[in-house]
Amino acid sequence: MAPRLPLNVVEQIVRGSNDGRKTYTFNDGHDYNLPAQWWFQESHEGLILFLVFYTQACQWSRCLACNLPSRMSKDHVSYKAVISQIDWVFANPEIMVRKDEIRKVILSNNGSVLDQETFSTTALMYLMAKLNLNFRWLDVISLETRPEYVDLAEIVVLSRAAAEGDTPTRIELAVGFEVFDDHIRNDVLMKGLHLAVFEKMVTQATSHGFRIKCYLMQKPVPGMSDEEAIKDVECAIEYLHRVSESCGALINVHLNPTYVARNTDLEVAFLRGEYVPPFLSDVAKAALAGRGKSLTMFIGLYDEGLAVPGGSFIRDERDEGLVAVLEQFNRTQNFEVIESML
Ligand code: SF4
Repeated sequence: MAPRLPLNVVEQIVRGSNDGRKTYTFNDGHDYNLPAQWWFQESHEGLILFLVFYTQACQWSRCLACNLPSRMSKDHVSYKAVISQIDWVFANPEIMVRKDEIRKVILSNNGSVLDQETFSTTALMYLMAKLNLNFRWLDVISLETRPEYVDLAEIVVLSRAAAEGDTPTRIELAVGFEVFDDHIRNDVLMKGLHLAVFEKMVTQATSHGFRIKCYLMQKPVPGMSDEEAIKDVECAIEYLHRVSESCGALINVHLNPTYVARNTDLEVAFLRGEYVPPFLSDVAKAALAGRGKSLTMFIGLYDEGLAVPGGSFIRDERDEGLVAVLEQFNRTQNFEVIESML
């Protein structure tokens, strides 16, 4: 029998989507010269520019509650197209008018920007040069990626380039940790992330002076009660604190309340009445676990327009008030702000 050939990238994406029981289609009609999305965030680190480039979708594509790949292309997007998207960013007056305020840029392609199959290395180097040339007060460049794509030799070169700007800029690796409970993370959510792999990445990255950002999801799967979801976030924060202490890692925890992503198993459960998104007051309760820890925290409050109707964690006007309070926490890291809303 002939040996089985490895799957190509499109086949990987399709297999991942099928394994994750996704029913969305990809955004193949998107203009290749435009990023998928961008927005500003305010944090204690100052103004953050979040850039989502339009590339080939996440090769993993399985995670149960995620429909981020639906914003992307199933097919390859050339480095020239990504460079056009970068040029668009640096010609955008809404972005450039704030260029001297921007302290952090988060680079995303709704997957892994360090996966060279889906995000061109040429485009990444071009982007580093443009950031140096344009954002003189930039402090941190955050690279969203799955840990398996972290190639230290590549990051060292990127880090060296980032340090050449007017303000020395540091690299942060942003990874989806999502859930503390191993069974929920890998068997239910299908994240495919084991603690040993995560810890090895943090240790190596920290030894080279890189920072870490960890995404957590509160209540990411059906079958978790609100109390279990709070407890899981508390355990994750405690665990990340221990990792930070043991290897001196600078870890920023980015806690995302889960929304019901269209065309996923979460939507099926939601429509059957078997899942409701977390309440913002519970997110605030869980975030309190970060007090006194060697971590910084950011609470994600944006569903990126990917939630089904009624499937957001922002349900009504009262929640909009809570969002304003949590945004204040993001800017100040003052836990008393959170306590005041509980
Ligand atoms: S959560 Fe990240 S790794 Fe998982 S399918 Fe979505 S984009 Fe891919």
